[in-house]
Amino acid sequence: MRQIIVGNWKMNGTARLAAGQAEILREAAPGLVCDLVLCPPATLIAALVARLAGSAIGVGGQDCHSAASGAHTGDIAAGMLAEAGARYVILGHSERRADHGETDAMVRAKAAAARAAGLTPIVCVGENEAEQLAGRAEAVVVGQLAASLPEDFSGTIAYEPIWAIGTGRTPTPEDVIAMHRAIRACLAERFGVAGRAFPILYGGSVKAANAREILALPEVGGALVGGASLDPAEFLAIARAARPPDR
Ligand code: PEP
Repeated sequence: MRQIIVGNWKMNGTARLAAGQAEILREAAPGLVCDLVLCPPATLIAALVARLAGSAIGVGGQDCHSAASGAHTGDIAAGMLAEAGARYVILGHSERRADHGETDAMVRAKAAAARAAGLTPIVCVGENEAEQLAGRAEAVVVGQLAASLPEDFSGTIAYEPIWAIGTGRTPTPEDVIAMHRAIRACLAERFGVAGRAFPILYGGSVKAANAREILALPEVGGALVGGASLDPAEFLAIARAARPPDR
């Protein structure tokens, strides 16, 4: 399976950045051995989709509401993202869990709504530093997975240790392998054959300088990239570090 490199622009980006990224990435994409997905702020989705038309590069949202419509000022429905041309949506990012009090149950409802709208959910899980230091990382992540995925889940998981996001720190390759194996075991146990195939991405301070080492790990299905995705040259260097798919 091809690795997936997802750029999470967070609350950054302008129409100008979107135009520049689209031009650079659409030219480079045919020569890559991985798939690319860009998740800009919702206001840029339609423009980015238009600029990437005819390329294989996907576009995604950074969140959606669990309802299809209604009195939810400031929120966006999964169907609205889909109508704008998005094919993916990041859900349960630790910044949303922290800033907006999102619980596993809310993430689970959002993932169901995303599927109903035809979007591929990218569900984020990950322990904080205190949990990691207490040796509870795996238990935390397994618990988040159990409670954040709906029964009919189909999509992608992103393992993002919170202490690695935006800090320049990353887990050791051994720790990434161990956590990805634990996640795979949960998915396989709960979703059977399908659960063996859902991509599991790593996220947290992925840069051009460390991408090759992380993406070389066979357990890693790709990367969720925050800060480094805003620089097209850096993002492309990460994509170029992807592991070719197994034959
Ligand atoms: C993220 O926010 O999903 C992320 C991985 O950020 P960064 O790459 O900046 O650590």
